[in-house]
Amino acid sequence: MKKIVIIGGVAAGPKITAKLLRSDCDCQIDLYTDEKLISYSACGLPYFIEGLIEDPNRLIVRKPEQFEEKGANIHLGKRCIKILPDEHAVLIQDVDTKEIEKVNYDKLAICTGARPIVPSIENIELKNIFTLRTIDDGIKIREKLRHSKKAVIVGGGYIGIELLEAFYLNGLDVHMIEMNEHILPIFDPEISDIIKNEIIKMSNGKVRIITNDAVVSFLGEDKVEKVVTSKGEVIDTDFVVIAVGVTPNTEIAKDAGIELGVSNAIRVNNRMQTSATDIYAAGDCIENFHLVSRNYAWIPLGSSANKEGRCAAINIAGGYDALPGVLGSAVTRYNGFTMSLTGLTETEAKKFGFDVISSTMTKKDKAGYMPEAENITIKLVVDKRSRKILGAQGIGSGDADKRINTVASAIQAEQTVDDFLHLDMTYAPPYSTAVDPLLSAALVINNQIYKI
Ligand SMILES: Cc1cc2nc3c(=O)[nH]c(=O)nc-3n(C[C@H](O)[C@H](O)[C@H](O)COP(=O)(O)OP(=O)(O)OC[C@H]3O[C@@H](n4cnc5c(N)ncnc54)[C@H](O)[C@@H]3O)c2cc1C
Repeated sequence: MKKIVIIGGVAAGPKITAKLLRSDCDCQIDLYTDEKLISYSACGLPYFIEGLIEDPNRLIVRKPEQFEEKGANIHLGKRCIKILPDEHAVLIQDVDTKEIEKVNYDKLAICTGARPIVPSIENIELKNIFTLRTIDDGIKIREKLRHSKKAVIVGGGYIGIELLEAFYLNGLDVHMIEMNEHILPIFDPEISDIIKNEIIKMSNGKVRIITNDAVVSFLGEDKVEKVVTSKGEVIDTDFVVIAVGVTPNTEIAKDAGIELGVSNAIRVNNRMQTSATDIYAAGDCIENFHLVSRNYAWIPLGSSANKEGRCAAINIAGGYDALPGVLGSAVTRYNGFTMSLTGLTETEAKKFGFDVISSTMTKKDKAGYMPEAENITIKLVVDKRSRKILGAQGIGSGDADKRINTVASAIQAEQTVDDFLHLDMTYAPPYSTAVDPLLSAALVINNQIYKI
């Protein structure tokens, strides 16, 4: 019987376990995690904090017992402190007793994920300064939110935006502080500007977004009371959430001599094999191959973690599966306003040397006479030389994300804009316009290329 050891238990680790249990692999599965929970949706945490979901247990996808009933062994509160590739063994430490045991494996899967970056800001150790990654973090933030009037979010990425929504909908006065020139810098600057303006417009004076400024210190006796920025702003607050990004948990992999790639994430091939024999990795701890830039990038997302976990499990079980790469497709929302993107932005495409042509189109997402029609803005990015679609950004109160998913399929099929504008999309007034906004954007590019 093959002995399979999995380290990490949120998305990728449980996915590997579940897929192995469904396969006909003759194997013993042992999953170790340093947490007391496994298999939960971190992605649902902002909605739990908001109060949309009352019971945190609803975020749990599968309980340890459900895996154990099917034959896997789940070890909670057990941290892997060392990988010994030459011995095909790992050292596991009990988080409470500190006892260490040596566990042998035939195949090992590293699914140690990522953790929030905690910047070195003066007095960051004050009470009521949080980060968000685990269910425990979510419970603490929600508890504090319910007894607060003011909050500060440090960082304007997608987790910051989702928290902004949660806090705004709970009636708080919120400051978001982003050191870059734009919030959501994964979008092109002019799209980020539209997003910022829309958020402000929708927030009835309860939200202030400060860009181009950094938090330099926190003030307060025991608990945080004020946030000070480099430009000298002093902001009163009841609590703070730091959401400035994440870093991969790859110290044990590095220590074992396993090759790392961009952002210190683990380099794997398309079968999720690391540089070490019989060691696989999946989820937020690995880097990704970007299908458009043809470069490695670190784009840690739950959607990818699940696909990578499935791929790793098939290969661990002795089958064959290969993942071609990612497009970095992502979506989030603020108060009904959707922000989504796939592939490369214009800024990124230029950086990678593409000769870019783009079009931005703001149109109703449904026939204009339908009461539920809302605006969406679509930006399509195309390579002038090959005419291949490189990426798209879609934002607005209407259905932007379904357009972006359509573009993701087209990019993966390596379609040119000429092929794309002939796409036979559905149309009826409650769903779209006779010429879908996405196809209008493609037509504009086509006209520019052929100067028609
Ligand atoms: C608030 C929030 C919202 C999000 N929203 C979205 C979204 O809408 N869409 C999306 O695609 N993604 C989203 N994500 C990202 C998504 O949650 C992650 O991509 C996903 O959780 C990655 O899963 P993972 O299993 O690779 O890693 P993780 O979730 O990081 O889990 C790794 C686990 O391994 C444990 N571990 C680490 N080191 C060790 C060790 N040495 N020994 C034992 N255990 C160890 C960790 O404690 C952790 O439990 C969101 C994340 C957050 C925090």
